[in-house]
Amino acid sequence: MITEEQYNQALKNKDDAEEIIQQYHKEEQERFEERMKTNPIFTDDELRYAASERCNCGHGMAYPAKCGIHHYWDCSAILKGIADKNVKHSGRMPFTFYEVKLENENRTTRPEN
Ligand SMILES: [Zn+2]
Repeated sequence: MITEEQYNQALKNKDDAEEIIQQYHKEEQERFEERMKTNPIFTDDELRYAASERCNCGHGMAYPAKCGIHHYWDCSAILKGIADKNVKHSGRMPFTFYEVKLENENRTTRPEN
């Protein structure tokens, strides 16, 4: 049988764990924001692509894997720094407003290498 003492200890452990998890996410978010400020160019390995949504320019829409939940879909060519500046690219699509299906094994806009 579980004692009240064990129960209280478990609650404390849970609180401690949640604090560590939150701190981790906060630090990861700060690292990402710093990255966006200093070097906002990503490789395909760092990007998550849409299953079928594409930019006006033809490249898949994507977002950096570590961006956090308040980010947005953007043209992958822009994210990779290879965008054609003579083309009008689709606007950013905030996660909050757009439900875009993420790539899967069968469907992706990720370029073939
Ligand atoms: Zn584009």
